[in-house]
Amino acid sequence: MVTDAGQGVLTVDLDAVVANWRDLSARHGAPCAGVLKADGYGLGAAPVGRALHAAGCRTFFVAHLIEGMALRDALGAGPAIIVLNGFAPGADGQAGLWPVLNSLGDVEAHATAGRADGLPRPALLHLDTGMSRLGLDAGEQAALAADRARLAGLDLHFVMTHLACADYPTHPLNARQAQRFAAAAAAIAPGVKRSFANSSGIFLGPDYASDLARPGCALYGINPTPGAANPMRQVVVLEVPVLQVREIPAGDTVGYGAGYTAPRNVRVATVAAGYADGYLRGLSGRSLALFQGRAVPLIGRVSMDLTTFDATDFPELRPGCRLMLVGGPGNTPDDIAARCDTIGYEVLTSLGHRYQRRYIGGV
Ligand SMILES: *Cc1c(COP(=O)(O)O)cnc(C)c1O
Repeated sequence: MVTDAGQGVLTVDLDAVVANWRDLSARHGAPCAGVLKADGYGLGAAPVGRALHAAGCRTFFVAHLIEGMALRDALGAGPAIIVLNGFAPGADGQAGLWPVLNSLGDVEAHATAGRADGLPRPALLHLDTGMSRLGLDAGEQAALAADRARLAGLDLHFVMTHLACADYPTHPLNARQAQRFAAAAAAIAPGVKRSFANSSGIFLGPDYASDLARPGCALYGINPTPGAANPMRQVVVLEVPVLQVREIPAGDTVGYGAGYTAPRNVRVATVAAGYADGYLRGLSGRSLALFQGRAVPLIGRVSMDLTTFDATDFPELRPGCRLMLVGGPGNTPDDIAARCDTIGYEVLTSLGHRYQRRYIGGV
């Protein structure tokens, strides 16, 4: 076996993911789906899906057809796997996936296929109520409400919509979307189950409850209630070993662009992870890692494969010691995102493929 002395270890706590899913299901009052798009928000759709499935989750959402096919291989025939971006009739290669129908054209195509062979096509119907991204727009909704026979040939499992501002509880668009969704779903698909809230939507209260919530980020420990305490458990720890420690005199610089100038004699610790590993370049000069629970400041620019830290106050920090780049108090994906003007979702989905991935708990 080859050992790579500089390789980081990304640990994913599947028991914490399952605990978060149970917590969200309890708050919502019914078992939630699990959103596993973008390889389970960067943490591994197959292991996360298997752990959630073993815990009783029976419905999963992915974005792409190929993600759905891979997840079907990982989970076997049982659970429903829904493709948010949809796919053409007959494209799913018998993986038994359900498309989300995002336009009247999608409805037409799948309904026509279902009528042609007398096998109603399982699907979800997506009504746009304020995202202006995917889903039937207001005009298409009115046309369908006026001619519901166009749904013949479909086996609609859910009618769904997606909140634009669920993480801003006081935003007026939330209530508007709830009203639009209730009215349109009743007019177009009365009697069909509904799917409404994402992670943050689960915390907006009973007006946002439905037959199936679709949490993603909160499963992975991202705070669904920004500005208030995070009710979710943390799931990810990234530790990367120090390759070298060197002393530089006051006045010397560190890294590309000479982005940092040593104000005194400085001990520089270099770790083998950089922006190609999802340690975002925007963190240059404005992040930290934890060593034995204490903050070690990032200095200079984050490079593609290497990042430098100021170890001056840590004489015991030597090559081979591991720095916690992600995880620990004050160093969650949300904390890291806040340092470089992004969101925890981007920190997680950027995590690279050069780390050793270690899964604890689960099945
Ligand atoms: C990504 C996504 C979700 C999950 O959103 P989170 O904010 O991660 O909980 C739910 N529904 C749709 C349509 C999505 O695209």
